[in-house]
Amino acid sequence: MKKGLLFVISGPSGTGKGTVMKHLLETGEYFYSVSATTRAPRPEDKEGVTYYFVTREQFEEKIAAGEMLEYAQYSGNYYGTPKSAVEKALAEGKNVILEIETLGALQVREKMPEAVLIFILPPDIETLRARLEGRGTETAEVIDLRMAQVKREVALLSRYDYAIVNENGKALEAAEEIMLIAHTERLLTKRNPELAKNFEEYIS
Ligand code: 5GP
Repeated sequence: MKKGLLFVISGPSGTGKGTVMKHLLETGEYFYSVSATTRAPRPEDKEGVTYYFVTREQFEEKIAAGEMLEYAQYSGNYYGTPKSAVEKALAEGKNVILEIETLGALQVREKMPEAVLIFILPPDIETLRARLEGRGTETAEVIDLRMAQVKREVALLSRYDYAIVNENGKALEAAEEIMLIAHTERLLTKRNPELAKNFEEYIS
């Protein structure tokens, strides 16, 4: 069976990634990789659905056991992708989506160069701050930390394959653009070596 494609989606906190992801996952065409984290659950979080919530000790044990495909510290907490679920889904031909920050995304690029890296941008920085403040779940200190993080993340934009701007109220359009990317990536010649083989006798 043909392996699935791995899509890595990043974007600073407040880009509206969550809504874009929701639209994408509603299509039923993607396997969402549930990350492990040491951050405290928010009211909307569900264990095993939005994240696996673990302690720092548990997370460090997973790192030591080689169970993480990638991991990073973000706003003082560990976040990481459990390797086995991703590998299994890809082997089953499923298209897998990781929604992770930039340092983790670059680790994935090193380990799995065939991954497709997509960066979601806000229309501008003011919009992003307004979105973060409007969420009402974070303290002013956390918002400042996250704005500093935005600078570090956007600096890595050129390491991604695709950039998508998530305009206000246009998350569905952003999700559609990602579906378009997925469709196009599946047609790349490098992902379809069997086609050239089929026509080999005519070419030689
Ligand atoms: P939040 O705490 O808002 O859910 O997520 C904070 C940041 O951590 C987001 O940028 C999110 O993309 C990132 N993140 C979530 N899961 C992972 C993961 O498994 N690995 C890495 N490297 N980042 C993650």
